[in-house]
Amino acid sequence: MTPGFDHSYAGLGSAFSTAQASDPVSAPQLLLWNASLAEALGWSGTPNTHPEQLQALAGNRPLPNTQPIATVYAGHQFGQYNPQLGDGRATLLGEWVTASGDRFDIQLKGAGPTAYSRGGDGRSPIGPVIREYVVSEAMHALNVPTTRALAAVATGEPVIRNRIEPGAILTRVASSHLRVGTVQYFAMTRGGDDVAELVDYVVARHCDTAKLKETPSGSAAAVLLDSVCERFAKLVAHWQVLGFVHGVLNTDNALLCGETIDYGPCAFMDHFDPQACFSSIDRQGRYAWPNQPGIMHWNLAVLAECLLPLIAADTEIAQQTAQEIVDRYPARFHAHHQHWLAAKIGLDELKADDSALVQGFHDILATEQLDFTLAFRWLTEVANDTLAHSPLPELFSVPDALNDWAIGWQARRSANQGDTSTITAAMNQMNPIVIPRNHLVQRAIDHAEAGEIERVEALVRRGQSPFQWHSGDLEWARAPEPAERVTRTFCGT
Ligand code: AMP
Ligand code: MG
Repeated sequence: MTPGFDHSYAGLGSAFSTAQASDPVSAPQLLLWNASLAEALGWSGTPNTHPEQLQALAGNRPLPNTQPIATVYAGHQFGQYNPQLGDGRATLLGEWVTASGDRFDIQLKGAGPTAYSRGGDGRSPIGPVIREYVVSEAMHALNVPTTRALAAVATGEPVIRNRIEPGAILTRVASSHLRVGTVQYFAMTRGGDDVAELVDYVVARHCDTAKLKETPSGSAAAVLLDSVCERFAKLVAHWQVLGFVHGVLNTDNALLCGETIDYGPCAFMDHFDPQACFSSIDRQGRYAWPNQPGIMHWNLAVLAECLLPLIAADTEIAQQTAQEIVDRYPARFHAHHQHWLAAKIGLDELKADDSALVQGFHDILATEQLDFTLAFRWLTEVANDTLAHSPLPELFSVPDALNDWAIGWQARRSANQGDTSTITAAMNQMNPIVIPRNHLVQRAIDHAEAGEIERVEALVRRGQSPFQWHSGDLEWARAPEPAERVTRTFCGT
């Protein structure tokens, strides 16, 4: 099959989206191009050499076979229902279907106002574009499901926020941009109109349709709810073990395909803080690191409520079925979390007896304010017997409490069942050396705002192999100095 654009979502009709006209910018310039993603997609040409692609990625002129639309959705923002949101600063060019039949939304973020802009300018400053590019690509390299970044283009036009900033547009690639909030719009704002059509569409696009026959209730909505339950549980478990704080887990930022989306106020923790929360607008800590598993459970419950009328005609049966599925979430989260935590700490599995050991490690990280990423990496180098040959001793000093704890840890490790090299290989794959640390992202953004993109390119490049040491890692892997610490992040809308 020849790769190319298709428009199945636009085909659902005018209730779901609105045609989007181009809103040209004056002086588009390519900032970043993701050649390896382009190759994986089977995208031919690059905006470097194909001026029409640069024009298209700047939103100036559509590419052939694209059908730009803005989609409508709703969502709970910080727990408050907003009956209509939608792509206020994003344009969906269409779905790119690869040679093997995989389908991805190609979306321009920051390409101008749409029918859903609610008075906003539809634009994005360069800072949030760079942040999303860097962090989403790093997340991909860390094996976390995520939307991807294909390109970043400077518009040559200013964007007015607290200050005047250079504008930019991100080309985002996602399995789809369909959200809990998309279902909410049809179920709640429109009182059930078209929600069945939407659910059938999502199930056909994102779920294993063989499950339709297996599910006792047989309903597409139940299949959807169950697969979203599994995806959310797995995704949030992965965030937790990496110390990733999303920062704005509104239902419109929870994708049904289970990819991480919206890198606005996100941050990885540096030193371990069990209450880590970075977003300047999250004053109550609703989306703090420890609350993420519970919040995604809540988002799942919102989805369940929207799907009730489709799950069964009988209200009681519908509620019971939905509740059973939503109740699977804690155990699924726990299973993924324990599995990955065991891998990170170099144990074959976490047994009930191990909880004091694991808690003891976290307690030391918290009281000694140790760097979360480097502390787990220290365990990895010790377990692999590679500490002395690695740059880690220059990056991480081990307090006595941790050395003492490690005696018990080594004793427990000697009781591991199974192949030792498999266990240490798993440690290597779960404990990154490099994460996109706030201070590095911020410094790269500062450079980009000053017209120097090289530092961003270097950060993106380094993020592509997070589990391997490279020369220069004393800079990329080190924890920030106290004066460099970024403790607050901003949405950047
Ligand atoms: P976000 O915080 O990025 O999840 O955005 C929440 C909602 O606000 C979405 O519907 C966005 O499309 C919309 N939005 C954010 N920034 C802008 C902007 N500059 N112009 C128009 N709409 C925006
Ligand atoms: Mg959003």
